Amino acid sequence: MSPSLLATSYLSAGVLFIMSLKGLSHPETARRGNLFGALGMIIAVLAVAIQVGLATSPIVIGAVLIAGLIGAVVAMRVSMTAMPQLVAILHSFVGAAAVLVGISNHLHPGTTRVGAEHTIHGIETFLGVFIGALTFSGSVIAWGKLQGVIGSRPLLLPGRHLLNLAMIFTCVWLGVVFVGGGPPSLPAILAVTVVSGLIGIHLVMAIGGADMPVVVSMLNSYSGWAASAAGFMLSNDLLIITGALVGSSGAILSYIMCKAMNRSFVSVILGGFGAEEGAAAVGGVVMEGEMVATTAEEVVELLKEAQSVIIVPGYGMAVAQAQHPVREIVDLLRKRNTQVRFAIHPVAGRLPGHMNVLLAEANLPYDIVLEMDEINQDFEKTDLVLVIGANDIVNPSALDDPASAIAGMPVLPVWEAESCIVFKRGRGAGYAGVENPLFFKPKTRMLYGDAKSSVEAILKLLAG
Ligand code: NDP
Repeated sequence: MSPSLLATSYLSAGVLFIMSLKGLSHPETARRGNLFGALGMIIAVLAVAIQVGLATSPIVIGAVLIAGLIGAVVAMRVSMTAMPQLVAILHSFVGAAAVLVGISNHLHPGTTRVGAEHTIHGIETFLGVFIGALTFSGSVIAWGKLQGVIGSRPLLLPGRHLLNLAMIFTCVWLGVVFVGGGPPSLPAILAVTVVSGLIGIHLVMAIGGADMPVVVSMLNSYSGWAASAAGFMLSNDLLIITGALVGSSGAILSYIMCKAMNRSFVSVILGGFGAEEGAAAVGGVVMEGEMVATTAEEVVELLKEAQSVIIVPGYGMAVAQAQHPVREIVDLLRKRNTQVRFAIHPVAGRLPGHMNVLLAEANLPYDIVLEMDEINQDFEKTDLVLVIGANDIVNPSALDDPASAIAGMPVLPVWEAESCIVFKRGRGAGYAGVENPLFFKPKTRMLYGDAKSSVEAILKLLAG
């Protein structure tokens, strides 16, 4: 491939990745954004394969086809609620790739570098392996926590910050040995892989359930920097650019999520820094009152009387796939001139934008879907709130109980409305495993059952 065609391909792929990120920032343009990203990736893979002379290699073609097929099948079969686990495990692949590139680059340098060039290349390799191993092990732990294989409670070892510091200093020392060259360089880089892997495990194990969204976006950012470092090691400009785009957009998303959840960005990236030792999952609040069950008939009566309704969707709505009958209820209510709006919490569901995607899938108009900041002050003026499969995001103990594992996280104050109906199957806790005093409040009624069946029962009565 001629250098100018290669440069044009790299530039086009880079521009397509930027357009993809722009498109993904809004539900209306997200589909197009995805297409731009996929097109950019096809151009990038083809250009690199041709550039390095591997485009006709049967091994490379076979590997791309098999891996592409596995990726397509997994992506088609994965349920929306299992997306964060998939994203986490994909981040681990980027981390593992950076480590492998670093070690193989060290074993087979290709070109001989001397002086400053040798030192710079050594630093690039050290950084790539360090970030890569941390991303790999941290992402595997995040996968385990999201999949429920590992408990979601934070593991807060005594003296954990000192332990982190000791491990970081060990890596720096090993990095100095590695960059210095000489015979110990291979054991040094292998040791960096192990110690940095332990840092990744320790950082993510220290993070509790409700902070997992921030961890996933943070690991997304780390995977971008790992890819960028691999780009430096391989002297590939496109990989550097792409990695930097992923790294910086992941960092911005982590910052936005931290702000939305009232968490300190530095605390979360340092692994539960500032989290209370032994913070109780159940919190210190003693539940007063009792949980009162209601029926679909009673909810329909309340819906007919209400002038204003706010619907709060959560993870349970995604599990039940109740968004379509919910849309039909919204249509009927709007025909009756009832004001209906949705309140979206930034960490509702299991991935950023999860609820927006579900509601867009059911063709709900965007102008009635409001973010937490846009609607939080309206709950006290609202007749009826339907909490459909949400729990942590409507838990008042986040505001009232400093001992709670979700203390300080902003929540939707659904208890301020005239009445509140909670749709859930039983007494199951939310993701953070915290008891929810909302269910015991006098204005709350519990509608037990699978959210889709409950919503369909209401729809039938309302339409009949
Ligand atoms: P939660 O996980 O807190 O609660 C969901 C509730 O839905 C449960 O209490 C469950 O109760 C109920 N439920 C489950 N299945 C059904 C069903 N089929 N029908 C009816 N109800 C059902 O969800 P939220 O959306 O309130 O909060 C999200 C949590 O996930 C937060 O803690 C957040 O930090 C965390 N998280 C978010 C991520 C993100 O990026 N958005 C990523 C990772 C974690 P029951 O079993 O009794 O039915």
